[in-house]
Amino acid sequence: MAGTRYRLRLPGPTEVPERIRRAMAQPVVSHRGPEFRALFRRAEELIQPILGTRNGVLFFASSGTGMMEASLVNVLAPGERVLVVANGQFGERFAAIARTMGACVDAFEVPWGRAAEPAEIGSRARKAEYRAVVVVHNESSTGVVSDLAGIGAVLRDLPTLLVVDSVSGLGGMEMRQDEWGVDIVVSSSQKALMCPPGMGLASLGPKAWDVVERADRLPRYYWDFRKTRAALEDDGTPFTTPVALMSGLGEALAMIHEEGLDAVLERHRRLSAALRAGCEALGLRSFPEADQISNTVVCLQVPQGLKGGDIVRGMYHRHRTVIAGSRNKLDGTVIRIGTMGHVHEADILTDLLHLEDTLGSLGLPVTRGAGVAAAAEELGHAG
Ligand SMILES: *Cc1c(COP(=O)(O)O)cnc(C)c1O
Repeated sequence: MAGTRYRLRLPGPTEVPERIRRAMAQPVVSHRGPEFRALFRRAEELIQPILGTRNGVLFFASSGTGMMEASLVNVLAPGERVLVVANGQFGERFAAIARTMGACVDAFEVPWGRAAEPAEIGSRARKAEYRAVVVVHNESSTGVVSDLAGIGAVLRDLPTLLVVDSVSGLGGMEMRQDEWGVDIVVSSSQKALMCPPGMGLASLGPKAWDVVERADRLPRYYWDFRKTRAALEDDGTPFTTPVALMSGLGEALAMIHEEGLDAVLERHRRLSAALRAGCEALGLRSFPEADQISNTVVCLQVPQGLKGGDIVRGMYHRHRTVIAGSRNKLDGTVIRIGTMGHVHEADILTDLLHLEDTLGSLGLPVTRGAGVAAAAEELGHAG
């Protein structure tokens, strides 16, 4: 299939629209000059409604994992207890980071594909003195979404902080940080925010700052949120900002607001539902069994007798469509397709055509056109 267009359909990094790539190709300006300060201020203003916050927003040159580590470095002291919800790969990563910091980690093990009950988190948090409860908003490895409003409500009157990874949620799933009582949200540029990898962000509420400001936290220098907050006074960062990424993010945020945040979130919901319906018609069942399923990543069970890697490789070699398998205990048994960021109907319909062809080539009995027909019906196109 020489000449076939390369299609980046991962749950991150995601396709970067041309408008954003153009913004990033602008000449690099001083990260302390007036041009950059205006850009920075605007990006901060535009991202606040997406976070659902009035907090200042801290930006770093970092992948998402760096921001997970940064959030813990700023709130923990060695030996302090944290409760980490472990219902997927990223929850487990958060627990590993906390252990590396010397924290005393209680992992709240939930079967992968399910979400933690807020009431259960509440009762555990009332029994032990946790510095923080750590939760992944949108678990990209399974397609499960956490009930942040419920978890925020049970922690609100406790000293415990709610620390949330919304790396693959923010911009594609609703986030109401202030209303839900999320004390720290971290995210990064390369998922629903439609930018290349390389920039991370954090938003902290007042309850989090009371902890972060204490001098007895873990040693921190680049990641010191106090320094980063102080630099917000001058609309910048304490160290060199990834200027090109900030231009890209400014453009991405403008695009989200032009479409309208509600419309963007609704588009993610519709397209993920349509892709799931189409996959089901091709014999690929949705993996998660939670009340709330991700709108940004579709996680699918691999049919008996097939290996996830064969589908992933087939999609790439036959169509240059890049989807994800799994790099954890689900390896081989699930495949994942991103429905986050700059995704439109044509993308998921093309995904379904490519999946149909690839599954057929692997010997799965597929009904021609069944995936596209089911997706079209879910989208309201069929009469
Ligand atoms: C992608 C992702 C991350 C961060 O991964 P990096 O490769 O470090 O950017 C963290 N959490 C979740 C839920 C993710 O989907």
